[in-house]
Amino acid sequence: MTTHFRRIIQLLALIAACSAQLPAQAPSLDQRAVARVVALNGLIGGVTSAMRAGISGKDVRKPFLLGVLGGAGYGAGKIVGSRGHVATAIVGNLTSGIGSSVVANAGRGAGWADELMVPVGPLRARFFRSERDRFALSVNATEAVVAISTFAHRDLSIDWKRSAAAGAFVFVTDERQIRLRGRMVGGVANTSVIVIGEFFPDAQAVLRHEIAHVHQHWFMQENWGRPMEDAVRRVDFIGRWIPSWIELGITVPVLYAAEVNAFGYPGPLRRAQENEAETLARR
Ligand SMILES: [Zn+2]
Repeated sequence: MTTHFRRIIQLLALIAACSAQLPAQAPSLDQRAVARVVALNGLIGGVTSAMRAGISGKDVRKPFLLGVLGGAGYGAGKIVGSRGHVATAIVGNLTSGIGSSVVANAGRGAGWADELMVPVGPLRARFFRSERDRFALSVNATEAVVAISTFAHRDLSIDWKRSAAAGAFVFVTDERQIRLRGRMVGGVANTSVIVIGEFFPDAQAVLRHEIAHVHQHWFMQENWGRPMEDAVRRVDFIGRWIPSWIELGITVPVLYAAEVNAFGYPGPLRRAQENEAETLARR
């Protein structure tokens, strides 16, 4: 391990440890909370890239460093995106998507900008550096099914204004209470689809919280789900039946189900994500 490499890990651990000393419920999203989110996501990005490189027998140092940068970018984009305005959604989706892509590129040993992805709801805009077609638009099938079935729900209506502010579909309910595992909640995010209870006192804070979950989902799908689904796609008789503009998107929901199965609800991953979403829900 090079000293350079070790120093970055030490610095990230230090930032995370310092900011963890703060009281959990600070009234606003202060600089230390921002630093902690960026540092932790940098670490997640680095570990994600290094693991993927390691699995395919490649040297893990460069992927780790590049993954730290990508993860920090993803974290910063998630912070901006979860502010809940149209302008912050545009900047947030761009930055978080590109950051996630850098982590993915680093993990497969490609150049940092080999393929850049920007998510909008269930859609993915992809820009390629090395392929003949420079641009492709694809649909995440699981997210699209969730969106369509939410559209069809008679007690929920689409909120276009909030959708534009989230960079993803947002639905509202003003009469029904949202119950999640027997608990009343202000909102819920399922893959990239958000449902907000209009009745809830601070609906904007609920929106910020749920947008954070959507970014978490996009990152996981890009970095954990897509590599596995691409491997499935390479199996000849399966790949032939799935058009290239469709991404399955089934891995992350399966992962959550497996987590609940192994640890109950909430498991360690879900708890970490809730913590982060609570931080990003702050004003
Ligand atoms: Zn949550």
